[in-house]
Amino acid sequence: MYGKLTAICGPMFAGKTTELLKRILWARNGEGKEVLVLKTAFDNRYSDTELVSHDGLSAGAKAISRFSDVTGLAHEAQMVCLDEVQFFAGMDIDVVVFVSDLLHNGRDVVVAGLDTNWKGEPFPATAMLMAMADEVIKLTAHCSVCGQPAFKSFKKVQDDEEIRLGHSDIYEARCNRHWVRLTDAG
Ligand code: ADP
Ligand code: MG
Repeated sequence: MYGKLTAICGPMFAGKTTELLKRILWARNGEGKEVLVLKTAFDNRYSDTELVSHDGLSAGAKAISRFSDVTGLAHEAQMVCLDEVQFFAGMDIDVVVFVSDLLHNGRDVVVAGLDTNWKGEPFPATAMLMAMADEVIKLTAHCSVCGQPAFKSFKKVQDDEEIRLGHSDIYEARCNRHWVRLTDAG
């Protein structure tokens, strides 16, 4: 049987990691499934051995910089989860190829990640996986200016770097009314 692909996306602070953790804990503890959780070694904001949400929920995970290090483990698991899936782009194996291979082999895959960058441009990896997904969950945060539903990530620090790792020191969630690109304004 072909595996099921779920894509969880939205801006920063939307609860993507929390939603992913909920599914990991349900599968591991509730259904007794073997779940492999992957994050990138690059994303070391909280921990290398755990996936941690902004609220401090956590689950055991593996931080990788190459997919080839975990292809065996991934095929032994019943469910494979990838957080911040946009950061897996440019590894030794294309993330879409890695995920497709698991699906073809009957593994369920759940990916979570940013749909767009602070400029509002789609992350190609997330965009592809959202298109392929059987289930897409778009989450919203609260706008840090007005509290209304926020669909976008706003970068508070003015530079042109497309990918810059950070939390609330650099980014905040904004609704469409309050989301501006600092480079446009300046
Ligand atoms: P994501 O993985 O989407 O960045 P997390 O699941 O790690 O999000 O964390 C979401 C949590 O972040 C919320 O439960 C909330 O406590 C916190 N948070 C901080 N700022 C905001 C905001 N502007 N809107 C919503 N949640 C926020
Ligand atoms: Mg997250």
